[in-house]
Amino acid sequence: MQLAHPGLEEEFEALTQFLYMAPIGLVQLRPDGEILMINPLCAQLLIPLSPRGDLSNLFTALADLVPDLAHQVANFTARDGVVCDAMQLPVRGLAGSRDAPRMLSLTLLKLDDERLMAMLSDVTQQVQREQALRQNHAWIHTLATGLTDYTLMTLDAQGRVQSWNPSVKRVTGHGRASVVNQSCALFYPEGTMSPERLADRLADASRSGWSLDEGWRQHADGSRYWGSCLLAPLHAPDTQAAADQGFTLIIRDVSDQRESTEALRRSVMSDHLTGVANRRAFFDAAENEVQHWLRAPRSLSLVLVDADHFKRINDAHGHAAGDAVLRHLAAGLKAAFREVDVVARLGGEEFVVLLPGANLDAAEGLARRVCREIASRAVEVEGSLIRYTISAGVATMEPGIDDVDTLVKRADAAMYAAKHSGRNRVVRWDTSLRGAAVPRPA
Ligand code: GH3
Ligand code: MG
Ligand code: MG
Repeated sequence: MQLAHPGLEEEFEALTQFLYMAPIGLVQLRPDGEILMINPLCAQLLIPLSPRGDLSNLFTALADLVPDLAHQVANFTARDGVVCDAMQLPVRGLAGSRDAPRMLSLTLLKLDDERLMAMLSDVTQQVQREQALRQNHAWIHTLATGLTDYTLMTLDAQGRVQSWNPSVKRVTGHGRASVVNQSCALFYPEGTMSPERLADRLADASRSGWSLDEGWRQHADGSRYWGSCLLAPLHAPDTQAAADQGFTLIIRDVSDQRESTEALRRSVMSDHLTGVANRRAFFDAAENEVQHWLRAPRSLSLVLVDADHFKRINDAHGHAAGDAVLRHLAAGLKAAFREVDVVARLGGEEFVVLLPGANLDAAEGLARRVCREIASRAVEVEGSLIRYTISAGVATMEPGIDDVDTLVKRADAAMYAAKHSGRNRVVRWDTSLRGAAVPRPA
């Protein structure tokens, strides 16, 4: 293939090798369907479909399922782009066999006049389907956006950079000297990729064959960009000691997609009034953290916050002023806790903060500080000054807790203890509160 820059060819080689092990079926083909490269997973999917098990031409192999695939390709006149996107191909069990019907998904991408890339996956189950679509999206974009906006490197089992290609400088601003043997946390804004978080991501990738996350990344000069990081073990999952072999990491600058991704995430995951995470986002994050805790315990605490006598604020100043106070409280919580903490509004005048890596003392300390700060200042709403206070309950993960609900219930019982003992205070859960959960007001 022709590439504009020397060096990119080598990178493309590395990428091709990486794709070879991708957890979805991949085929590189010519416009006449001739298969140039096929990864093992794809061969596995295609062989039972293909007449006589012939894998030399994709159009022939899929002739029964998509008879007009050759036409679709021929009619696709743009120089590059998506010929078909997640086309579903129902595959009936072989006649006389007891195989259940399956569903495959085919995405076909035209890379240039000479080459196409097909992604084939078995999406029989809805759950698998959703995951595969996300994966396909990540893999396909790695190819579709060309060779200029990603960097590929290998990491050791602890996530330290071992080898890299020249594009690491272009994407991250870091040169060889500053990346070699450094933890890949280097590419994230400070404090956002803790050693524990990194260990979790590496473990996720080992277990499921890949791990993808999107968010702020940091250039060597400190500036931020929106990037996606795709992490995959160097060996297929389930092979012995996959994690010992190290990982491949692809970082892509996807700043151009940030707005749409963020807008979507905001609309689904954030609270419309205050802009902090909503109930669903909180439970998603908490569920994740609790599952990690169950596999590898480390500090994880929760602070439940409820505004005191909030009804009176509404009654005295009006609902709109009450809303302004809720926004003030949300902003105060955001500012008081750390960037890794998840501040969410559970509903009404009740908020929750999830603190990964913080023990009971640390969480209580942060909660006390914010409680004092809020009590010490008045909020100005349309000319009038409103004072308010909060009560908070703190609980932490410990052996015997195995779900989010139990942790929330403990923080809740502690918060109610704070209410009962006079409000404007923080109470931590202890065994004397066992079974003391007060029925929640509707
Ligand atoms: P306590 O100190 O015991 O928590 O007393 P409280 O008045 O804060 O608690 P209560 O649960 O009795 O009342 C909560 C009030 O919060 C009642 C409801 O009208 C108000 N509220 C709930 N959601 C919103 C909202 O989105 N905006 C505003 N302005 N008020 C809300
Ligand atoms: Mg209240
Ligand atoms: Mg309440």
